[in-house]
Amino acid sequence: MRLSELPTMPKMDVELRRLMERDLRDAVAKMAFQIRYQPQINIRTRRVTGFEALLRWQHPVWGAVSPDEFIPVAEETGLIGAIGQWVLEQVCVEATTWPADVNVAVNVSPVQFDNGGLPEIVSAALRKAGLNPFRLELEVTESVPLQDNPVTLGTLQAVRDLGVLLALDDFGLGFCSLGYLLRFAFDKIKIDRSFVAEFGKAEVPSAIVRAIIALCGNLGIICTAEGVETEEQLRLLLNENCATAQGWLFGQAVTAEEISALLARTNPGDGPDPGVKRPPP
Ligand code: C2E
Ligand code: MG
Ligand code: MG
Ligand code: MG
Repeated sequence: MRLSELPTMPKMDVELRRLMERDLRDAVAKMAFQIRYQPQINIRTRRVTGFEALLRWQHPVWGAVSPDEFIPVAEETGLIGAIGQWVLEQVCVEATTWPADVNVAVNVSPVQFDNGGLPEIVSAALRKAGLNPFRLELEVTESVPLQDNPVTLGTLQAVRDLGVLLALDDFGLGFCSLGYLLRFAFDKIKIDRSFVAEFGKAEVPSAIVRAIIALCGNLGIICTAEGVETEEQLRLLLNENCATAQGWLFGQAVTAEEISALLARTNPGDGPDPGVKRPPP
């Protein structure tokens, strides 16, 4: 349920927005956020290839506030800069404790790309933690459209030059999905879970899923299906040669402390995952 639907919440959007901004500022001052990690798996081998870092905010009165609600406020107020930097620094440190073939993906707001400082923030986080850039993936979504200007395109390129992978998140949902591919070379596409949910059930979403997987094949980039919840969806994705998947079928996001036990189950034995090749930088 969204906050605005709670009976105790002010009905006026403006008032809720004002309270959320006030409390978000407070949370940023204390960095009172948590990071959870959701496994991404190689569909063929079912080994975990990496984890996506997902931000959590436990409000003292409202309880868990969804990032879909507070990230837009953070974007509008500019607080996303401090939050995003903190997330990057935390996950780079955390990922150094994982096996070398397990990567970490971080969501980055288009607002962070528009302000030219992102490459320095990313490279400093990698350097401080001692994490190999190839193990970091940045996921960009179009909650706010990525600006088609030299600063944004230059930032994307500078981040990619570090050796970091770039993934286009929630693909198919936004107006600009295909346009982004024309303007910039991404390493990975994540099919939005609204299409995956209907895969094998409804004709149009199924055709879109197949088309996106084929598009990735033609472009030579990795395809990830988001929101995989059933074995049937997984079987159909395997049939289409989709490389990786993420979703409740493999688990919800876990705490950093739970990762080694999870990997002991999913990734027995050593050695890099032979199934999914990382593209060159
Ligand atoms: P996203 O990057 O597309 O992340 C996937 C969302 O789908 C997550 O929601 C995850 O919990 C949910 N999900 C994963 N598997 C399943 C499934 O099988 N079924 C269903 N129904 N849902 C599934 P979450 O954690 O609420 O995050 C929502 C969005 O908030 C993210 O979407 C991302 O755009 C944004 N977000 C999260 N953390 C950050 C962050 O650190 N920075 C920024 N800028 N955005 C973030
Ligand atoms: Mg994401
Ligand atoms: Mg997504
Ligand atoms: Mg999303």
